[in-house]
Amino acid sequence: MFSSFGEAPAKAGQLAIDPEALERRRLVQIVLLFGGVAVFILLTISVVNYYRHAGAFIWMTVPTAAIVLAVVLFTRRTGNIALAINAFGLTMVGLSLILLVSGGVNGCGLLWIYIFPPFIFYAQGFRRGLFYMALLLVCVLAVFYWPYWPIDHFRYSPDYKKRFLLSLFGVVMISAISEYSRQKTHRWLATLAAKLEVLSLQDELTGLANRRCGLNQLSTFREIALRNDTPFSVVILDIDHFKQINDRYGHEAGDAMLRHCADTLRQGIRKQDLLVRWGGEEFLGLFPNTDLAGALVVAKKMRHNLENAQLVVGNQVLRVTGSFGVAQVEKDESIDAALARADEALYRAKEEGRNRVSAADETQPSNGKAA
Ligand code: GH3
Ligand code: MG
Ligand code: MG
Repeated sequence: MFSSFGEAPAKAGQLAIDPEALERRRLVQIVLLFGGVAVFILLTISVVNYYRHAGAFIWMTVPTAAIVLAVVLFTRRTGNIALAINAFGLTMVGLSLILLVSGGVNGCGLLWIYIFPPFIFYAQGFRRGLFYMALLLVCVLAVFYWPYWPIDHFRYSPDYKKRFLLSLFGVVMISAISEYSRQKTHRWLATLAAKLEVLSLQDELTGLANRRCGLNQLSTFREIALRNDTPFSVVILDIDHFKQINDRYGHEAGDAMLRHCADTLRQGIRKQDLLVRWGGEEFLGLFPNTDLAGALVVAKKMRHNLENAQLVVGNQVLRVTGSFGVAQVEKDESIDAALARADEALYRAKEEGRNRVSAADETQPSNGKAA
């Protein structure tokens, strides 16, 4: 879609919906939100434990808060989430290990581990979430059952261990399934939204940019022209006696002819130009970095190409011609005013006998079909 010039909405980078960018933005928001909340909770726990003289936890919570804060600030500054999500994953596994070994208060420290799986899956996505969960599971099994554990750790009862493992497995499964379906739905919706956005900017019949896209791009091209102090021109063209094609050969042949015109016209323009289906059998060409003289050259080429192209429908060979109005968008005039001048020139071309190019600026010579 929009793969060749004249069909530029995607190429011009004007699509707002990018599924990957949406996912990245979501992750940055998660890192900032959860990171901020984690720093607050960790510091609160540190202060409470300090006053309760449970100083043993402070060496764990304060450095963790410092790490999380550093990661949050880094992510905020750079927008790079790769470091943040891995740092968070490792921090959580590390914290779990400390809780497992120390047992927290009377072995209740393990209860905190339940908050990690939902968070890890939510922040890391399905696949990386599975990796960190596997790491967490290895740590739990090692602390519970590895006979040669180098440091003394809290002694959990066999029943407690078994139930903790089973319930943790349940939480991991639920978190994994919900993240998997969230990711799938998100991808599907984002892809659908991107497709709909392309469709909303594309003319269904010809595949060209539609009028809405043309209007957007007119403003963009004009802004660029003003900023860079470069010329910008427009060409409006209307197929001559098109009604006769419909009347003689039927509406389907008319549609085929419009597609054929679109293909022929875009062959004559550069990649940075944009061809728009402006109305029924009317097209608008946008030519950045092109003055009136340059736009007249392109318009003449398009007129020539159109006149010489032929479409075979059944055993009939169909030909059409077009009338062209060309205007350079002046710095101090509105886009509407420039389009109106191009329109006037087009109607002059019609009045003068059709199949010709007419310049909007009266000081420029009118260019006939000899071009
Ligand atoms: P002129 O040289 O003065 O422009 O004559 P014309 O016949 O081209 O102009 P007119 O405005 O009288 O007719 C335009 C025709 O274009 C009428 C309309 O049915 C046809 N048309 C517009 N959009 C489409 C379309 O999407 N498909 C088909 N098949 N025909 C269309
Ligand atoms: Mg016409
Ligand atoms: Mg018309």
